[in-house]
Amino acid sequence: MYFVSAPHGTRGREAAGESGSRPVGEQHARKPGSPYTACGRVALDWRMFWELPFPVASAATCRHCMISCGLTDQHVVPAELVGGSR
Ligand SMILES: [Zn+2]
Repeated sequence: MYFVSAPHGTRGREAAGESGSRPVGEQHARKPGSPYTACGRVALDWRMFWELPFPVASAATCRHCMISCGLTDQHVVPAELVGGSR
């Protein structure tokens, strides 16, 4: 199980109407407890987006992480189906 991880995230006003924060920039895949993304970047100080299982539909999804996870576009979860919109 991978989750979205990114160097930065938004919170509150920038993600209007959503309870959680959203990643800014490219979205990578990371396993809980791992210091690396699926594509091999050091992600120790990156944000984990626990409400966003990877991959979530986004123009900024890291293709290398997709490939490393053995995923194709058919696996992408439409963003509107992911939690955080309550
Ligand atoms: Zn990546």
